[in-house]
Amino acid sequence: MGFEPMTPGFDEVHVLWTSEGMSCDGDTVSVTAASLPSLEDVLLGAIPGLPKVHLHNKVLAYETGDDFTAAFHRAARGELEPFILVVEGSIPNEKINGEGYWTSMGNDPDTGEPITLNTWLDRLAPRAWAVVAVGTCAAYGGIHAMAGNPTGCMGLVDYLGEDFRSAGGLPVVNVPGCPVQPDNFMETLLWVLHQAAGLAPVIPLDEQLRPTWLFGKTVHEGCDRAAYYEQGDFAKDYNSPKCQVKVGCWGPVVNCNVTKRGWMDGVGGCPNVGGICIGCTMPGFPDKFMPFMDEPPGGTVSTAAMAVYGPVIRTLRSITNVSANREPKWRHNQPALTSGYEPRWSGGH
Ligand code: SF4
Ligand code: SF4
Repeated sequence: MGFEPMTPGFDEVHVLWTSEGMSCDGDTVSVTAASLPSLEDVLLGAIPGLPKVHLHNKVLAYETGDDFTAAFHRAARGELEPFILVVEGSIPNEKINGEGYWTSMGNDPDTGEPITLNTWLDRLAPRAWAVVAVGTCAAYGGIHAMAGNPTGCMGLVDYLGEDFRSAGGLPVVNVPGCPVQPDNFMETLLWVLHQAAGLAPVIPLDEQLRPTWLFGKTVHEGCDRAAYYEQGDFAKDYNSPKCQVKVGCWGPVVNCNVTKRGWMDGVGGCPNVGGICIGCTMPGFPDKFMPFMDEPPGGTVSTAAMAVYGPVIRTLRSITNVSANREPKWRHNQPALTSGYEPRWSGGH
């Protein structure tokens, strides 16, 4: 991606982390299991060269209520720079909220009215040295943004716009996953922090703004079962150690590294341990992967004749990979709901 980075040398950085989007807090919980590095290593200053980090995350904070939101108000007034804004959860469309609002964090001290997540983003994102979307919901919309959703929610880039650049000159940095693989997030944060300290080059991102070293390969390329696939030896149910492509695995067209690094601390990694890949890291998730248990494209031609059909299959897969790397068109920041939602009760909009 083309963008002009800044080369500062900060020795102290705040991390403002909001999970007030459409979120289950699963990414926060996931990151507590990180080990490369752990949150504790970063917060206690155990990483050489890293700026001192102050974390503001409601699940992990000691403060509550107004005491917790105080740092966000200070940042919005320009009194807490530099800071990295971490956003968890998809962004609802407040242009179609009727008489209410979809999500909020804290109240306005003057009016007592709830402050929506969208207002916080408008205030904080332009001031943030970097903006990181943690998890697929914040990155692309995720589960909440599937067809038929009533909130018109979207990913952070859908909301801020493709041209958005942070105060540090970076686009939104996406670390998808449902939930995020904890070390994927911590490695990304570490890179951004080292960049803020002037000790790392610009973080390399792909077209979907994911760190290239984490999302450059497919699930299939790291899968323990790939040899079965190449031999055309497929599982017929979930009790088999063989390739699961015929029972619904989308690994060949999905960019994700958990088959290499596991879910946490090297353990697990969906297809390695018997779970089909349902594409949870992808911009097209979940809609383009449903119904999850059907045979994915390429499954029907995955036979012992693989060697003959290999080039054709690879071409088909790259087409499917391109499609899965695109978000559905109803995820946008326009004043209209186009998800196909139909209210099932009177008074719904
Ligand atoms: S189980 Fe999935 S990821 Fe693993 S080899 Fe089969 S298709 Fe590829
Ligand atoms: S292997 Fe598939 S389902 Fe599992 S974490 Fe990666 S993208 Fe998600």
